[in-house]
Amino acid sequence: MQKTLSKAFTIKGIGLHSGREFTAVVSPAPENTGIQFRRDDVRNCEYTRITPYNVSSTQLATTIDCGGLPISTIEHFSGAFYGLGLDNAYVSVSGTEVPILDGSAKEIIEHVERAGLKEQKALRKVLKVTRPVSIEYEEKTVEIEPYDGFQITFELDYPHPVIGRQVFTYEYNENTFHKEIGIARTFGFKREVEALWSMGLAKGGSLDNAIVIDDKEGVLNPEGLRAPDEFVRHKILDMFGDLSLIGYRLQGKIKASRSGHQVNNVFARTLLEATNSYEIEEVYDKYENMQESTAENISFNPFVASPSVSPA
Ligand SMILES: [Zn+2]
Repeated sequence: MQKTLSKAFTIKGIGLHSGREFTAVVSPAPENTGIQFRRDDVRNCEYTRITPYNVSSTQLATTIDCGGLPISTIEHFSGAFYGLGLDNAYVSVSGTEVPILDGSAKEIIEHVERAGLKEQKALRKVLKVTRPVSIEYEEKTVEIEPYDGFQITFELDYPHPVIGRQVFTYEYNENTFHKEIGIARTFGFKREVEALWSMGLAKGGSLDNAIVIDDKEGVLNPEGLRAPDEFVRHKILDMFGDLSLIGYRLQGKIKASRSGHQVNNVFARTLLEATNSYEIEEVYDKYENMQESTAENISFNPFVASPSVSPA
């Protein structure tokens, strides 16, 4: 059955782009509402269902259009909701961005878990892939094929010793999402963050909400990494966030390489438009033949975090 929250909750924190503080109030919503966002600081931006077609920007984060106005960085919220099986919710935001929090979905997930979920009176709709669909864009690829479950294998390859090549296969399961994917933080290189600052972007970006990597020092965050392959796990969280905009539960096996918000969005649209390659079924999404998630080729280089480096 579809699920919504048992009660509303409020999250506060700074926005990645502006560095200003924002509040997001997440509340229960009726059957078939999906996930809808609005801004409470302006008129004209009433509750709008997130779809791959109202994404207005994929620079640094996924931004949706709400009555001609932006709401930014929605992907960790939408990814957490999909991952926990929350189908219907309203999110009311106090401005242009939802809080970036610690750069992962951890705090959002904890709020949802504390609030609790309740079953509703409508079946979930599942997009069941029946034929492969794939896209390729500047050496970035995403493909999906039929599968009795929902699985994402992501490969990333950064020419940097802290990251290197990482491959993670996540066999989706509501009960493991928090621990395996939800806690993984976003990441960036110190030189890239500094370049963004000089352009007036990512003003809120810091060691509090991202893993920051220095070419010489390695990971700058004093607490280190939450998992040696936290980077690839975060890319999978982003993919949950971006593909959840499709608006159905997904049944299929995804293989993605080097994809990001832009390519994820193109893939979401391509899949929705490939109407001969899937069926929409109203079913319980309980899968048989569940596999274990696997990690491979973790080329982790345990650089020591330097406590003398001030926050980026
Ligand atoms: Zn992200």
